[in-house]
Amino acid sequence: MNRIGTIWVATVLVAVSFALYQVYGYAAGTLGVMAVSTALCGYPVVYKAIGSLRYRIVGIEVLVTIAILGALAIGEYWEAAAVTYLFYLGGYLEQRTLKKTRSSVKALLALAPDTARLRRDGVELVVDPQTVAVGEKVIVKPGERIAVDGTITEGTAVVNQSALTGESLPLQRRVGEFVYAGTIVQSGYMVVRAERVGNGTTFARIIELVEEAQDAKAKTEKFIQRFSRYYTPAIILLSLLLYAFSGDIRLSLTLLVIACPGALVISVPVSIVAGIGNGARKGILVKGGDVMERMGNVQAIAFDKTGTLTKGKPTVVFVHTCEGDPQEIAIIAASGESYSEHPIAQAIVRYATTELGAKLSLPSSSHPIAGMGITFTLDDQDYLVGNRTLFAQHGLSFSAVEPIMRQEEEKGRTVVLVGTHARIIGLLAVSDVVQDDAKALIASLKKLGVQHVVMLTGDNQHTALFIAEQLHVDEFQAELLPEDKVAAIQQLSRRYTSVAMVGDGVNDAPALAASDLGIAIGEAGRDVAMETADVVVMSGHLGQLSYAIELARSTMRTMKQNIAFAILVAVVLLAGVLIRTVNLSFGMLVHELSVLLVIGNAMRLRRYGSNR
Ligand code: ADP
Ligand code: MG
Repeated sequence: MNRIGTIWVATVLVAVSFALYQVYGYAAGTLGVMAVSTALCGYPVVYKAIGSLRYRIVGIEVLVTIAILGALAIGEYWEAAAVTYLFYLGGYLEQRTLKKTRSSVKALLALAPDTARLRRDGVELVVDPQTVAVGEKVIVKPGERIAVDGTITEGTAVVNQSALTGESLPLQRRVGEFVYAGTIVQSGYMVVRAERVGNGTTFARIIELVEEAQDAKAKTEKFIQRFSRYYTPAIILLSLLLYAFSGDIRLSLTLLVIACPGALVISVPVSIVAGIGNGARKGILVKGGDVMERMGNVQAIAFDKTGTLTKGKPTVVFVHTCEGDPQEIAIIAASGESYSEHPIAQAIVRYATTELGAKLSLPSSSHPIAGMGITFTLDDQDYLVGNRTLFAQHGLSFSAVEPIMRQEEEKGRTVVLVGTHARIIGLLAVSDVVQDDAKALIASLKKLGVQHVVMLTGDNQHTALFIAEQLHVDEFQAELLPEDKVAAIQQLSRRYTSVAMVGDGVNDAPALAASDLGIAIGEAGRDVAMETADVVVMSGHLGQLSYAIELARSTMRTMKQNIAFAILVAVVLLAGVLIRTVNLSFGMLVHELSVLLVIGNAMRLRRYGSNR
């Protein structure tokens, strides 16, 4: 018989035995029905109690078992039947509702691709996505889910990435661009070269992370184990003492039942699970309860500038040369930057290849220097491309171009110097625009009570000042190397209890790791970001950060309400027991109701923010 069947049978048995008891008292028939009902509902508790005692854990089940056996021993058969029934029913309802708090994982799983269309040896066939190998060509038609992470090799399509990012705004994707498993092709047709398959896809990783973070049962159990080492034995001792002093066995048995810490034990994990689930459906990955807690308490937030507060897609807007053709300078710089993934490098390469239509020759060697630029060799000539620090380190003077640099930087542009090891030969200015929602975000963070907002950047003072003034941050620090960003975070940590670092995860992984709370805002699925950050905003939309913090605050609030409520119920029940108005079964009833109320309160979080 399944659980729901058992519940129905037990309900009938309990009702019948209560009716019999009212009419005939403890007649043989009454006792028979009661015995069956008690055995049916009590068996699992006793079984679990014995199981846990074997591992020397005195759990809740042990308390309830003692109470039941005690009630039977003193002839309170009805109480024993009622308590076992209520405990069984309560446990069932608790599990059912708890499952609902995890429904976001189920919702995510429903978005997983279940077939993949392949072209193998020229024939098209449909297979299980788990069997696709890296490098195979996957075909996706309109309305279908992409089964792998990979690069488009043929076709163009409009892709809906909501499974990953929570945003249903469709995006145009072309040859050479990356697409993710779990996302849907709305229109168009494409062939994707599989790069990550099966459990290695970003989508599979997300499900795994959410599952881990949401495992309330595991967390509750861990909590109970720690809790019950001292708590439950203490309660047993207390009820023995109570019996010794009052001589009232009913009183001490009731104490055992009402002292069950059910609502208290579940109050924290259930709130966190619901909060994490809410985030997951909106493309905000929160990696665990402690992370949620730190995010709820965040006092200071540091932002990386490039790629986080700004779009990170700069364009070359100005070229200056000390001698010769400006185009030549741009082409030399672009050739040297060909291998670099830095947004500035990509801007220069884009400018040379598309604006100037140049064909780049590749450098014979190149060395990117984090936070400074790059050195390379091209046609047997050594070059430097980068900022002041890079040139100063190589003992090269740039005073000749200093006025032009200043002039560009005060417009918020970043100047990239170009030189040989002997002298400066020119410069390029790139301009990056501030994200649309950056200013609004910083305003709303302040409204949420975040005390200090800082901008950290490797860019120069003038450009940084220009952007900082636009955004109204409280403080900015410029010309930082990656290790300086780490030091800046550590310094903030001394002043504020919880410090978050927000970055795109490209070159700020160390700072993300050094903060109390690393938040990566990135184009879905950047590996580094997913691994190092504590919170990932998959959509890459900066504005969602204030939602994430509001959600965390709300989760903390729910958690505190639940704890307060659980303690209040316990105190009231205890008082009721001591003034002898609460008996065993009533105590159990209130106890189970309080557990359900705590879960219900947490469930409200699942719908939080859905009416915006
Ligand atoms: P951030 O992301 O905070 O702007 P980075 O550490 O990425 O800082 O870069 C700091 C500065 O170093 C840039 O503003 C730029 O002047 C210079 N730089 C870094 N990498 C390159 C590169 N590949 N080409 C040119 N300049 C670079
Ligand atoms: Mg950066």
